[in-house]
Amino acid sequence: TTKLADQYRGEGCTISFELFPPKTDKGMQLMERNVERLTQFGPAFFTCTYGAGGSTQTKTLDVVQRVRQATDLPVASHLTCVGLTVDQLCDYLREAKQRGADYIVALRGDPPQGSTEFQAVAGGLRYANELVELIRSEFADEFGIAVAGYPEVHQEAIDAATDLTNLKRKVDAGADVVVTQLFYDNDDFYRFRDACDQAGIHVPIVPGILPVTNFRQAERIAGLCKARIPDQLAAAMNAVEDDAEQFEIGVEHARQQTIDLLENQVAGIHYYVLNKSDAAEKMLEGLSLGKV
Ligand code: FAD
Repeated sequence: TTKLADQYRGEGCTISFELFPPKTDKGMQLMERNVERLTQFGPAFFTCTYGAGGSTQTKTLDVVQRVRQATDLPVASHLTCVGLTVDQLCDYLREAKQRGADYIVALRGDPPQGSTEFQAVAGGLRYANELVELIRSEFADEFGIAVAGYPEVHQEAIDAATDLTNLKRKVDAGADVVVTQLFYDNDDFYRFRDACDQAGIHVPIVPGILPVTNFRQAERIAGLCKARIPDQLAAAMNAVEDDAEQFEIGVEHARQQTIDLLENQVAGIHYYVLNKSDAAEKMLEGLSLGKV
């Protein structure tokens, strides 16, 4: 497999798609069909989330294995420190390797619902930089590692500077790339990219983009991720009742974000496609993506 950092070298824009483990067999079939459709855009790799929003953790590696076999592309498993001891994290990583995971998106994870503070389990890890360290110490370079970055600052961080210091810990521990939380205003991303550079973080900073397909979803996701919805986008979506019209507006916004990112020479873009392909197809149609 291509090393993760190498995916972002050279001319052109590397794209990746993020999936989540479907709850049902039907959902899995739908996802597999959409994955096939998404391959037309020449993604460098797929990723699958782990336990996000309370979803089941055991299915992540099923998705990894299936997508790897179906596409022959590299696949990343996300992994969080939630509820697992160091030994259990290592067991997961061994199984991930066995089942074909090439990369790990190494995360701390969110505090449980109703609580604002993350609690490590006894014998577990407190921060994502410790997970990166663990992977590098136990698995050397067997996995490419991505970590999370926050253009609008992580909700628990004391301030932006401290958040960047903490991001640098993850990179210094051996992360190959930073993938950002979703955002709707590219200026937030450009500011973040510059700040990373000034803080001495010199790995690729890959923007994460979510094509929103209706206003309720946009609000829910923005609430969860603390991503600000620009007034103009909110007003435009609010002005139309119809789901199909909201879809058009949301997808067009993500398309304009993409075009602007391409003009600003990003090395890659990570798309939160939520197992769907219709929004991505509309958003990416006719754009020149991929490494040249
Ligand atoms: P950390 O980097 O550990 O940071 C957490 C907080 O602690 C920050 O405020 C940081 O500033 C601070 N901090 C970090 N290190 C230290 C330190 N050493 N000392 C003191 N303070 C520190 N969640 C899921 O459950 N499953 C997923 O699959 C998933 N995928 C994601 C993918 C991406 C690209 C992104 C951006 C997020 C994803 N998340 C996922 C959400 C993520 O788990 C949450 O945002 C979580 O609250 C923080 O995780 P982190 O890895 O960024 O934590």
